[in-house]
Amino acid sequence: MEKILQKIVYDNKRYTEYGNVATYIPELRKANKNDLGICIIDMDNNIYEAGNCNEKFTIQSVSKPITLALALMDNGKDKVFSKVGMEPSGDPFNSIMKLETSKPSIPYNPMINAGAIMITSMIKGRNNGDKLNRMMNFFKNLSGNKNLSVNEDVYMSEKLTGDRNRAMAYFLKSEGILTENVEDVLDLYFKQCSIEVTVRDLARIGVNLAGNGIDILTRKRLIDEDVSKVVKTFMVTCGMYDASGEYAINVGIPSKSGVGGGIMGTVPNKMGIGVFGPSLDEKGNSIAGIKSMESVSQKFGLSIF
Ligand code: GLN
Repeated sequence: MEKILQKIVYDNKRYTEYGNVATYIPELRKANKNDLGICIIDMDNNIYEAGNCNEKFTIQSVSKPITLALALMDNGKDKVFSKVGMEPSGDPFNSIMKLETSKPSIPYNPMINAGAIMITSMIKGRNNGDKLNRMMNFFKNLSGNKNLSVNEDVYMSEKLTGDRNRAMAYFLKSEGILTENVEDVLDLYFKQCSIEVTVRDLARIGVNLAGNGIDILTRKRLIDEDVSKVVKTFMVTCGMYDASGEYAINVGIPSKSGVGGGIMGTVPNKMGIGVFGPSLDEKGNSIAGIKSMESVSQKFGLSIF
């Protein structure tokens, strides 16, 4: 298995040349464009890795399905989906356009920035510090990595330059959809995006979702079954933003990408997959990462369709 993964990394590495690392968050420029790593964890906790699998990177939007799970367990489906829709937007992840034109002006789904910011605002806690603790513990339990932490440089970089996210959050507040303090919500959102992970962390979260929320090692239930199913469905319909349709056809694995270069895949009842390749295509998805997911899916027959 590891041999096959090494070949997949070797074959797909050349695609890193055709993309670029994210630059709109200045700190992300420091990533090495040619990195490519992959990790697969199956339901028996067998771990297979290849390429730059020890590299740390920020989770970015791969955090969105995870905070969605927490917000759904905190608030229930009815409350959450009164403030965020369930449909693909067909627009880029940071698009503002549909916020004003759709009625009610709630974000289309929880996987785009506007929707994810709403979701973060619904995480429960006595204060922002308490919310951050609850969030971090949730990520730590799901990844089985007690050492997860926020990359302070990326967090500060996002906070200083995140005016587009700020604009969306203030708009949502002005519409009475977002009810919390905007700067507090954004602070939590920027920290959430700046959690540092490896492909192994993503694969472990992915395999725990594959088992519908029961941790493969501790056997503890971390996510309610119905919530886990909702999250995976969003990963299929919206996980790769406006490339989700093409990805579903070519790869067919519920997945979520982030501008740090990560992709998390979850193959129901089989395995979790973590990929890292910071060279992105024009839609903000890892260019060699997508190609690698395609190879993995074909090689092992993993499409859910
Ligand atoms: N933190 C990033 C942002 O809000 C996340 C975007 C992404 O990974 N697509 O812009």
